[in-house]
Amino acid sequence: MKHEVAVIGAGYAGLACAVELARHGIETTVFERSATLGGRARVVRKDGWTVDNGQHLLLGAYSELTRLLRLTGVSPRRLEHLPLTLHIPGRLRFRAAVLPAPISLAVGLARARGLDWRERFAMPTLLRHLRRGHFRLPAEMTVTDLLNACRQPAKLRNLVWEPLCLAALNTPAHEASAQVFANVLRDTLGACASASELLIPRVDLSELFPVPAAQYLATRDGRILTGNAIAAIVPEESGFRLAGDPGGHPWPQVVIATAPHHAASLLAATGACEDLAARIAALPAEAITTVYLALGAGVRLPAPMIGLVNGPAQWAFDRGQCGGPEGLIAAVISASGAQDREVLGSAILGQLERELDRRLPEAQWTQVIVEKRATFACRPGLVRPGIVTSLPGLWLAGDYVESDYPATLEAAARAGVECARRIAAASAAR
Ligand SMILES: Cc1cc2nc3c(=O)[nH]c(=O)nc-3n(C[C@H](O)[C@H](O)[C@H](O)COP(=O)(O)OP(=O)(O)OC[C@H]3O[C@@H](n4cnc5c(N)ncnc54)[C@H](O)[C@@H]3O)c2cc1C
Repeated sequence: MKHEVAVIGAGYAGLACAVELARHGIETTVFERSATLGGRARVVRKDGWTVDNGQHLLLGAYSELTRLLRLTGVSPRRLEHLPLTLHIPGRLRFRAAVLPAPISLAVGLARARGLDWRERFAMPTLLRHLRRGHFRLPAEMTVTDLLNACRQPAKLRNLVWEPLCLAALNTPAHEASAQVFANVLRDTLGACASASELLIPRVDLSELFPVPAAQYLATRDGRILTGNAIAAIVPEESGFRLAGDPGGHPWPQVVIATAPHHAASLLAATGACEDLAARIAALPAEAITTVYLALGAGVRLPAPMIGLVNGPAQWAFDRGQCGGPEGLIAAVISASGAQDREVLGSAILGQLERELDRRLPEAQWTQVIVEKRATFACRPGLVRPGIVTSLPGLWLAGDYVESDYPATLEAAARAGVECARRIAAASAAR
């Protein structure tokens, strides 16, 4: 088994793959370009502050990631568990009841503030429509088409469905795949109450899973080489040689667990996967911008996570209510496109003041983090690659590979685990 598998990339997909391989007793080496573990979900240390490259939200439905967290010994207390809550100050207050679905939604709607009776009835209508069709929709349908087909009132679209779509798919409703949105609704609002829970990390994103994953690997003969980029994959008779691998020997199995644009260039360099590389390179990308504002002790949002309207941000998280310093706010702009970074901090402070209807102190510290290629744009009919390539022994893992889910931590974890299981099955058959 020595030097059996090389995984390129220590994001959530690569580490999920390595942990699952280690669970099967397969020795794994992970090569990571950066000094920090976590990829697009990682800690950022700046000016004495510890934040993430972007505020992340997990869902109770993230079954594979939560299994991996348990496997690697992560305490459930590292996630703040909230029932599905939509709190838009002055406009909407909805909290799903802690009861089995669909009663959780019905009771939550009956108690909701800010919706009239027509709006309260319209929300379950959409879920009933999806359930009747077994959550299958035409491949070309957008979320806006779905909302039209189910005659959703304007207020529900603006305050509930469109923000949820943007948060879950990082794609605006008129461009987003209705099928992928339906998959998310099926596994959250359409499932048990715990599946629609919102899970907000109370620790940074490297500490949440990558660091415990690295510790798990270290006790099972796994290795992670950080600051070690792989420049090219060279197919040979006995496997693959990796340019940049200090060991220099060929690997029988290699998993490319990088973001899609890096995977495309590694695949193209093999000289044998040009079509696959071109398809992956063509996946459209969407940005996410996170703006951190340190407003000081005594500043508290009305809930750990609130919805915002009228831009630029769509959500604000109170890190002080999720294990972070008091008064540290993370404002999120999904599908953010081009933004003027210089004025974003003050624009968001102004937005918070308007929407909370109170004055806030000047920010003691502002940090704007733009992830230009945060996720692929989850458009209708998008064909995502599978985990198998045309080169036996060369695999793909990442949030962009075929999955029911949009580009999320869960999609990344599922792809990594599936890849590991296929490799384990192939090794067992040998
Ligand atoms: C700002 C932001 C907010 C988000 N919000 C959410 C959210 O709320 N909920 C959610 O579920 N998801 C969210 N996501 C999406 C989620 O972060 C990603 O889907 C997930 O992290 C992707 O993981 P991955 O392992 O597939 O890829 P990556 O995280 O990109 O990991 C790839 C790794 O490969 C390394 N690498 C690349 N090339 C090489 C090479 N040649 N050699 C060695 N190493 C290499 C990279 O350095 C990186 O560490 C968000 C993403 C961003 C950016």
